[in-house]
Amino acid sequence: MLEIRPNCEHCNKDLPNNSTDAMICTFECTYCKECATGVFENVCPSCSGNFVQRPIRPSKMIEKYPASTTKVFKPKDLEQAKINTEKFINIAPEKR
Ligand SMILES: [Zn+2]
Ligand SMILES: [Zn+2]
Repeated sequence: MLEIRPNCEHCNKDLPNNSTDAMICTFECTYCKECATGVFENVCPSCSGNFVQRPIRPSKMIEKYPASTTKVFKPKDLEQAKINTEKFINIAPEKR
């Protein structure tokens, strides 16, 4: 089950469960769309995988299975992230 983290790990933007701006990688590294597809160009700076839009948990389910309230805020070293992106950007996610 997804944790549904409350914020962007890089810029700290709020990303509540009902946000359509939340993107996650396979490890649920969570970023806003601008960071995931703009800054990191769809290469996760931690695991090099791709991002997809985080699914929204329906209201009945979020009552029973609440979203995480633990913020993960670890801004990435942009120079390192750029090297990582350049290494993987031309490789399709299913081949990384
Ligand atoms: Zn962000
Ligand atoms: Zn990742």
